[in-house]
Amino acid sequence: MKSFSLRTLPLLLVACVALSPGHAWAWGSQGHRLVARVAEPLLDPQAKAEVQRLLAAEPGATLDSVAPWADQLRAQDPGLGKRSANWHYINMGEEGCVYDQPKQCADGNCVVEALKAQSTLLADRSNSDAARLQALKFVVHLMGDIHQPMHAGYGHDRGGNTYQLQFDGRGTNLHSLWDSGMFYAQRLDDEQFLQQLLALPAPQGVSRPQLQRDAPRWAVESCHIAMRPGVYPDTRKPGQQYADTWRPVAEAQVRLAGERLAQLLNSLLDHP
Ligand SMILES: [Zn+2]
Repeated sequence: MKSFSLRTLPLLLVACVALSPGHAWAWGSQGHRLVARVAEPLLDPQAKAEVQRLLAAEPGATLDSVAPWADQLRAQDPGLGKRSANWHYINMGEEGCVYDQPKQCADGNCVVEALKAQSTLLADRSNSDAARLQALKFVVHLMGDIHQPMHAGYGHDRGGNTYQLQFDGRGTNLHSLWDSGMFYAQRLDDEQFLQQLLALPAPQGVSRPQLQRDAPRWAVESCHIAMRPGVYPDTRKPGQQYADTWRPVAEAQVRLAGERLAQLLNSLLDHP
């Protein structure tokens, strides 16, 4: 430990935490933070003011700092964590990426219906600020999850979670590779990653969503990506070529999620 002074140790710990893989059921926390970072400057003044007013109940909280929160619930608030455990995904790969609510989400506990329900809660100003803040945190998070292709893929392998792989010198699985593995392999901090996302071609046709129609459509789009030939690699040791092919697809989804999140918040919070 000669080369590490006590002063550098905390920095190393922070770096280790920042580079550790994300939770198995979500974009890694960096992906979630970046969705919020893309969205923030696109909020209109009314939505921005309301977001800031709600976040003020949590001193120091920003839209990107609360974005990974829903993945930490099982440790912080086990009851809510358990109740919301299925809100992060929908399995529809086996059904050819067709959303069939009575079959796939009859109880409302899937990302499509949870996103709709939390959005309704957030928009309704007769609800308490505390309830609306919690709904905001879910909306920011679930907009990320619904755009992660592995969150709308097959059920038989739990969205790629049981599909074991080796990548970047370590054991992982296909779900985790899409959540975070391909991103973290770049070793970018959030600001560098944001600039990379903003350099991508701007998504076309992002307008104020109509969730009844658009939430299922977004999940269907994600599912179709998960089903593309080559997403499930030929080898259990995918290398740089896999990342070169699919990381830009994953990044485009993060960017798209952020732009759509902004339009969603603008539409939910557009009246005083
Ligand atoms: Zn999640």
